Amino acid sequence: MILKLVMADIKITNMLKFYTLCLIANGPKHGYDLIKDLEEKFRKKISASHVYPFLELLRKNKLIKHDNIGKREKKVYHLTAEGKKFTNEMFDKFGDLIHISIEPRIATCPCGCKVYSGGYKEKINGKTMTFCCSHCAKMHGK
Ligand SMILES: [Zn+2]
Repeated sequence: MILKLVMADIKITNMLKFYTLCLIANGPKHGYDLIKDLEEKFRKKISASHVYPFLELLRKNKLIKHDNIGKREKKVYHLTAEGKKFTNEMFDKFGDLIHISIEPRIATCPCGCKVYSGGYKEKINGKTMTFCCSHCAKMHGK
Protein backbone atom coordinates (compact mmCIF):
# COMPACT_ATOMS: atom_id res chain seq x y z
CA MET A 1 0.00 0.00 0.00
CA ILE A 2 1.46 3.34 -0.99
CA LEU A 3 -0.42 6.52 -0.40
CA LYS A 4 1.09 9.53 -2.04
CA LEU A 5 -0.04 12.69 -0.41
CA VAL A 6 0.17 15.99 -2.16
CA MET A 7 0.83 18.25 0.78
CA ALA A 8 4.18 17.00 1.90
CA ASP A 9 6.81 14.81 0.45
CA ILE A 10 5.88 11.98 2.74
CA LYS A 11 4.87 8.60 1.51
CA ILE A 12 2.87 6.36 3.71
CA THR A 13 4.40 3.12 2.55
CA ASN A 14 3.48 0.76 5.33
CA MET A 15 1.00 0.14 8.07
CA LEU A 16 3.50 1.10 10.75
CA LYS A 17 3.71 4.64 9.37
CA PHE A 18 -0.01 4.81 8.82
CA TYR A 19 -0.77 3.65 12.34
CA THR A 20 1.85 5.95 13.85
CA LEU A 21 0.05 8.91 12.29
CA CYS A 22 -3.33 7.57 13.42
CA LEU A 23 -2.11 7.36 17.00
CA ILE A 24 -0.76 10.90 17.01
CA ALA A 25 -3.92 12.13 15.29
CA ASN A 26 -5.92 10.70 18.19
CA GLY A 27 -4.18 12.97 20.64
CA PRO A 28 -0.76 13.92 22.02
CA LYS A 29 1.46 10.89 22.60
CA HIS A 30 4.68 10.17 24.39
CA GLY A 31 7.25 8.52 22.15
CA TYR A 32 7.39 5.65 24.61
CA ASP A 33 3.60 5.16 24.67
CA LEU A 34 3.52 5.39 20.91
CA ILE A 35 5.89 2.46 20.55
CA LYS A 36 4.02 0.48 23.21
CA ASP A 37 0.73 1.03 21.36
CA LEU A 38 2.35 0.05 18.06
CA GLU A 39 3.72 -3.13 19.61
CA GLU A 40 0.28 -3.97 20.95
CA LYS A 41 -1.30 -3.32 17.56
CA PHE A 42 1.20 -5.32 15.53
CA ARG A 43 1.81 -7.93 18.24
CA LYS A 44 5.55 -7.77 17.86
CA LYS A 45 8.55 -5.94 19.22
CA ILE A 46 9.00 -2.62 17.49
CA SER A 47 12.34 -0.91 17.58
CA ALA A 48 12.51 2.81 18.22
CA SER A 49 14.80 2.97 15.20
CA HIS A 50 11.80 2.08 13.04
CA VAL A 51 9.62 4.78 14.49
CA TYR A 52 11.83 7.76 15.32
CA PRO A 53 13.20 8.48 11.82
CA PHE A 54 9.60 8.71 10.60
CA LEU A 55 8.68 11.01 13.49
CA GLU A 56 11.70 13.13 12.68
CA LEU A 57 10.62 13.33 9.04
CA LEU A 58 7.14 14.39 10.11
CA ARG A 59 8.63 16.99 12.41
CA LYS A 60 10.92 18.38 9.70
CA ASN A 61 7.90 18.73 7.45
CA LYS A 62 6.13 20.58 10.26
CA LEU A 63 3.36 18.01 10.50
CA ILE A 64 4.06 17.21 14.12
CA LYS A 65 5.63 19.02 17.02
CA HIS A 66 6.95 17.74 20.25
CA ASP A 67 6.97 19.28 23.67
CA ASN A 68 9.37 18.24 26.34
CA ILE A 69 7.47 17.50 29.49
CA GLY A 70 8.88 16.80 32.93
CA LYS A 71 12.39 16.42 34.24
CA ARG A 72 13.20 13.43 32.10
CA GLU A 73 12.35 15.46 29.01
CA LYS A 74 9.88 12.97 27.68
CA LYS A 75 8.82 13.99 24.24
CA VAL A 76 5.11 14.36 23.62
CA TYR A 77 4.18 14.40 19.97
CA HIS A 78 1.15 16.12 18.58
CA LEU A 79 -0.11 17.25 15.20
CA THR A 80 0.34 20.79 13.94
CA ALA A 81 -2.43 22.49 11.94
CA GLU A 82 -0.71 21.25 8.77
CA GLY A 83 -0.43 17.83 10.32
CA LYS A 84 -4.18 17.78 10.87
CA LYS A 85 -4.77 18.67 7.22
CA PHE A 86 -2.31 15.99 6.18
CA THR A 87 -3.90 13.25 8.29
CA ASN A 88 -7.41 14.26 7.19
CA GLU A 89 -6.28 13.91 3.60
CA MET A 90 -4.71 10.57 4.47
CA PHE A 91 -7.92 9.36 6.09
CA ASP A 92 -9.97 10.52 3.09
CA LYS A 93 -7.73 8.64 0.68
CA PHE A 94 -7.59 5.62 2.89
CA GLY A 95 -11.36 5.77 3.28
CA ASP A 96 -11.71 5.63 -0.50
CA LEU A 97 -9.45 2.59 -0.62
CA ILE A 98 -11.47 0.85 2.05
CA HIS A 99 -14.65 1.70 0.22
CA ILE A 100 -13.35 0.27 -3.07
CA SER A 101 -12.10 -2.88 -1.40
CA ILE A 102 -15.21 -3.68 0.63
CA GLU A 103 -17.89 -2.43 -1.79
CA PRO A 104 -18.28 -5.82 -3.56
CA ARG A 105 -18.86 -7.44 -0.17
CA ILE A 106 -21.57 -5.08 0.94
CA ALA A 107 -25.15 -6.32 0.77
CA THR A 108 -28.11 -3.99 0.91
CA CYS A 109 -31.06 -4.87 3.08
CA PRO A 110 -34.48 -4.05 1.54
CA CYS A 111 -34.80 -1.35 4.21
CA GLY A 112 -31.79 0.44 2.73
CA CYS A 113 -29.24 -0.52 5.40
CA LYS A 114 -25.83 -1.53 4.11
CA VAL A 115 -24.68 -4.79 5.58
CA TYR A 116 -20.96 -5.48 5.58
CA SER A 117 -20.47 -8.16 8.20
CA GLY A 118 -22.88 -10.20 10.22
CA GLY A 119 -26.39 -9.23 9.26
CA TYR A 120 -29.12 -11.79 9.00
CA LYS A 121 -29.55 -14.30 6.20
CA GLU A 122 -32.80 -16.00 5.34
CA LYS A 123 -34.06 -18.03 2.40
CA ILE A 124 -37.00 -16.34 0.78
CA ASN A 125 -38.63 -18.01 -2.25
CA GLY A 126 -35.60 -20.28 -2.50
CA LYS A 127 -33.18 -17.39 -2.61
CA THR A 128 -30.81 -16.57 0.25
CA MET A 129 -31.09 -12.91 1.05
CA THR A 130 -29.15 -10.74 3.43
CA PHE A 131 -30.94 -8.46 5.83
CA CYS A 132 -29.64 -6.13 8.47
CA CYS A 133 -31.72 -7.91 11.11
CA SER A 134 -34.33 -10.65 11.56
CA HIS A 135 -37.01 -7.98 11.88
CA CYS A 136 -36.35 -6.79 8.32
CA ALA A 137 -36.39 -10.42 7.09
CA LYS A 138 -39.81 -10.92 8.69
CA MET A 139 -41.15 -7.71 7.13
CA HIS A 140 -39.85 -8.72 3.72
CA GLY A 141 -41.13 -12.28 4.00
CA LYS A 142 -44.72 -11.12 4.50
ZN1 LIG B 1 -32.98 -3.78 7.23
